[in-house]
Amino acid sequence: MASLISFYPGPSRLHPRVGHYMQEAVEKGYLSINHRSAAFVSEISIPTIETLRDRLDIPMDYTILFTSSATEGWEIIAQSLIASESLHIFNGAFGERGYHYTQNIVPTATAIRYTHQEALPMTKIKIAEHIALTHCETSNTTLVSEEILVAIRELYPDSIISLDATSTLGGITIPWRAVDVVYASVQKCLGLPAGMGLLICSPQAIAKAKQNPNKHYNSLATLHDRMQDYQTTYTTNVLNIYLLGKTLAEDDTISSKEKHLRARAAEIYARFHGSEEKRFLIQDQSLRSPTVIALQMAADRIEVYKKKALEHNMLIGNGYGAWAGDTLRIANFPQHTDAEIQNLLAIL
Ligand SMILES: *Cc1c(COP(=O)(O)O)cnc(C)c1O
Repeated sequence: MASLISFYPGPSRLHPRVGHYMQEAVEKGYLSINHRSAAFVSEISIPTIETLRDRLDIPMDYTILFTSSATEGWEIIAQSLIASESLHIFNGAFGERGYHYTQNIVPTATAIRYTHQEALPMTKIKIAEHIALTHCETSNTTLVSEEILVAIRELYPDSIISLDATSTLGGITIPWRAVDVVYASVQKCLGLPAGMGLLICSPQAIAKAKQNPNKHYNSLATLHDRMQDYQTTYTTNVLNIYLLGKTLAEDDTISSKEKHLRARAAEIYARFHGSEEKRFLIQDQSLRSPTVIALQMAADRIEVYKKKALEHNMLIGNGYGAWAGDTLRIANFPQHTDAEIQNLLAIL
């Protein structure tokens, strides 16, 4: 069976060079390499960290750490960076999930919920030790704008601000100076097999973590210590670290990727503008993410399009959570080619 082109937000379509570099990793013996060996450090870990910094425009003083997933990112932040005050501001399922995981560790965590049709309610925010934000809420495809992120930073310079960037990291620019901890999994915008995450920290976050060393195997302080030697605390996902460095090194800079994705998203929106049958889940265009797009329509039409897509070897993403029944989602990630997007539009 030919593999389907997946427009699911994640796991999503793989970067087209993943197969090539997987084979290369096997041939070079990387899949049985010791994760503390000099070869791992010099041939895999250091090149990947350097490529990430360069391709994603990560500031020199921010620390890049390898984790197992975005979900682990929630756990690490809660274990290592929060004594008592954690404020979670969200409008969908992933923000909610991060809040619940944090509550298990920090029972005093609080939430501000808002709807997917309004901008993040700045005036409701109160000062807190940790402020948790979701860049693109993948469940409903909203994006918190750079202006809002920068404004929150200016109002709360001493808070630790975390950003779940699972469906934006690798696709659009992160306003790094506005946030202290950015985390993501690799199976979405980065186009890799699932099973690895990234956690990228400001000096302020690292300083705070060091005041609060804990015994968690993946505490931020321990991860940071290990990364001084470009290593991890546990036997890590060597293959994905290798794939990440190699695939990103071949790609455009993040600013040209963002430009491309924004232009393609605009084309998709223009295509369905004014359609009777298909509406955009997110009405205000300034709230839409360029990386994931949600169309709302009758449930029976969704079934028709999903079936038609399958006949053409394409997999359309289901709606998520509250929007599962009457929306479909289209991932617009860097690894999707223009031709693939055109093929999808042709059947919709
Ligand atoms: C997919 C996703 C997650 C969870 O990712 P895992 O790899 O399952 O940990 C968290 N947050 C957002 C915004 C996501 O899109």
